Amino acid sequence: MTARVLIVDDVPANLKLLDAKLTSEYFDVLKASSGPEALEVAQEQQPDIILLDVMMPGMDGFEVCRRLKAMPETEHIPVVMVTALDQPKDRVQGLEAGADDFLTKSLNDLALFARVKSLVRLKMVTDELRMREATGQRIGALSSNGGDNFLMKEPGRILVIDDRPTSLKRITETLSSEHMLTVAESQDELLELANQGSFDLLIVSLTLQEYDGLRLCSQLRALEATRQTPILAIVEEGDTARLVRALDMGVNDYLVRPMERNELVARARSQLRRKRYQDYLRDKFQQGLELAITDGLTGLYNRRYMEGHLSTLVADGIKTGKPVALLIFDIDYFKPVNDTYGHAAGDAVLKQFGERLSQNVRGIDLACRLGGEEFVVVMPDTDLAFAMAVAERLRQCIAMRPFTIDDAGKTLDITVSIGIAVTGGALDSASKLLERADQGLYRAKRDGRNRVVAEAA
Ligand code: GH3
Ligand code: MG
Ligand code: MG
Repeated sequence: MTARVLIVDDVPANLKLLDAKLTSEYFDVLKASSGPEALEVAQEQQPDIILLDVMMPGMDGFEVCRRLKAMPETEHIPVVMVTALDQPKDRVQGLEAGADDFLTKSLNDLALFARVKSLVRLKMVTDELRMREATGQRIGALSSNGGDNFLMKEPGRILVIDDRPTSLKRITETLSSEHMLTVAESQDELLELANQGSFDLLIVSLTLQEYDGLRLCSQLRALEATRQTPILAIVEEGDTARLVRALDMGVNDYLVRPMERNELVARARSQLRRKRYQDYLRDKFQQGLELAITDGLTGLYNRRYMEGHLSTLVADGIKTGKPVALLIFDIDYFKPVNDTYGHAAGDAVLKQFGERLSQNVRGIDLACRLGGEEFVVVMPDTDLAFAMAVAERLRQCIAMRPFTIDDAGKTLDITVSIGIAVTGGALDSASKLLERADQGLYRAKRDGRNRVVAEAA
């Protein structure tokens, strides 16, 4: 994994040392020697991660971090505060300024690289989601959100395993005022709970008496339900080897015993924020996707989706020699329904029409609303005789049962005209298929409506 790392320090020797270490691990290194310069480089170069010195003349690291996290162009870039002072107060202040992690200057190289890699990996996921969201906004499928205060409204659901009574007590006492905590008594219980419950954060001690904490973390990473759930590990002071392995397997953050209360609160909070941000982007993307491919009124697929998918189905059909049938529907005398009973009545008819259509075709058939009162059903692996039979059944299913057009239960008789075409020959295409079906429909209308007409290839 190559990543661009911005290092910020006012002492040239420190910059040089860090530069050499990171370059030897094949990171691309950018440098800045003051707060204002760091802000400028971050905005212009968009690094993947920023290692930020706390003590700098003029604008200190906390202030730089706050500003980075306040600007839309840089708020998503992970920031690691680097300082000589390993004071809990400093760590907490850094996390409150929005920093994603904290390291001391005499840092162990392994821990440094592991932290950088783990944060960069996380950023890739988030970047992908941000990109999809941006695309969604561009094509108008998603609206932009205002602020992210909603992220911390609900208490977090946290699952904990730690067999040290004092340590467990500290965690539960510290976090339960803000969050909902569940404590697992054994490895099996943890995995079972994790698998069924939807937790926002898992806190796992890496030094359990009866279980291998590292193995437990890797199992949690493999479990579908917790693949994306942040894990906060608890380690012993100086147990770097274990910590590095944990970070390598995807543990998101850690706390060193004895845990400092404020740090615990801050780290839990920042993992929860991140999880919710990712969940939010993912949900929103899903929603946008649905909006983009379905028709709002009937819930059927829309024209855009049908056209995209039809070419694939036709190409497949030609390749495998299996015919693809296409039915095109146009409701008869629909304009008078609107004119006489109002637009809402027209909408009610369209909705029920869509329901009858999807209830009467197979799961592999694709039902969509082309627009207005026109619909299409695409049926893979279907010959003309079968398509005719389905079309005739659908025509009857519309004509035989009246449509309800208001809450009072008033009903209306509706009929539909249907054109059919089936693929034939290696030169056939989606657009030709649609065109032929349309000609069939035209003849059905001309011949008196409420009928099915097939157009030969
Ligand atoms: P024909 O039998 O020849 O198909 O006549 P028609 O009246 O069904 O056809 P025409 O194309 O003249 O009218 C279609 C009407 O569909 C016109 C339009 O107002 C109405 N329409 C299109 N989209 C919607 C919609 O989303 N809701 C409602 N209520 N009406 C719609
Ligand atoms: Mg029409
Ligand atoms: Mg019509």
